[in-house]
Amino acid sequence: MEPLLRLSEIKVVFGSFTAVDGVDLSVAERELRFLIGPNGAGKTTLIDVITGRTRPSGGRVLFGGVDITGRREHAIVRAGIGRTFQTATVFERLSVADNVDLAASYRMGPLRLLRRRRGISDAVAAVLERVGLLRLADRGAGVLSHGQRQWLEIGMLLAQQPRLLLLDEPVAGMSAAERERTGELLTEISADHTVVVVEHDMEFLRRYARDVTVLHEGRVLTEGTVARVQADPRVQEVYLGR
Ligand code: ADP
Repeated sequence: MEPLLRLSEIKVVFGSFTAVDGVDLSVAERELRFLIGPNGAGKTTLIDVITGRTRPSGGRVLFGGVDITGRREHAIVRAGIGRTFQTATVFERLSVADNVDLAASYRMGPLRLLRRRRGISDAVAAVLERVGLLRLADRGAGVLSHGQRQWLEIGMLLAQQPRLLLLDEPVAGMSAAERERTGELLTEISADHTVVVVEHDMEFLRRYARDVTVLHEGRVLTEGTVARVQADPRVQEVYLGR
């Protein structure tokens, strides 16, 4: 079966520096894939290529069998790919619910904005319930804890109904309890979405990851189950042993 996402021979050159050097990556529908690697391995650059933020110097991005290489960010959101950033980008002056509502309208376009009703729609309530923020729906997003902000941002993504979610270090800076909740949330989300997670936290990976791709110096070093990857001496050398 054709994977939902297929990168072939992706290359990104900044000046004379090759940040991504011929990466092939396939992610199947409803997979929860972790992308790891030391700082500077090219993880963020690869996510930037998938989301249209960076145009690759070479290679192709296929999504659902369609070539989306070089499309603009907004077109890629419309195609069904959503991402979070390391620092959650929520609107602090809006309520938690309005952040989700606004995110939904980003994909639907301005018409949806004009039709906004007062009160929380069922769709917004469902998203907030899923990310555990329903009881805080009317609170200003500015009062949320770090962890709650990350969950709100994931909720904002879900509101856009993407087929593929790309999450950049979702548990960075979280407490142990928040990490656990996030791991459960990712597992839940991957039951009906495809999720790619950039993550450094090895303990988190051991608990919640199955399939892992290791990047190093712009290339795929190895791929496999978390146990297999961890046992690979090359991975220990470049990543675990640091
Ligand atoms: P990671 O996310 O794995 O830490 P990045 O994708 O952020 O790695 O970066 C890969 C390499 O590319 C790093 O050496 C970084 O300094 C370099 N890099 C990233 N973006 C740019 C840019 N816009 N211009 C020049 N070099 C960049």
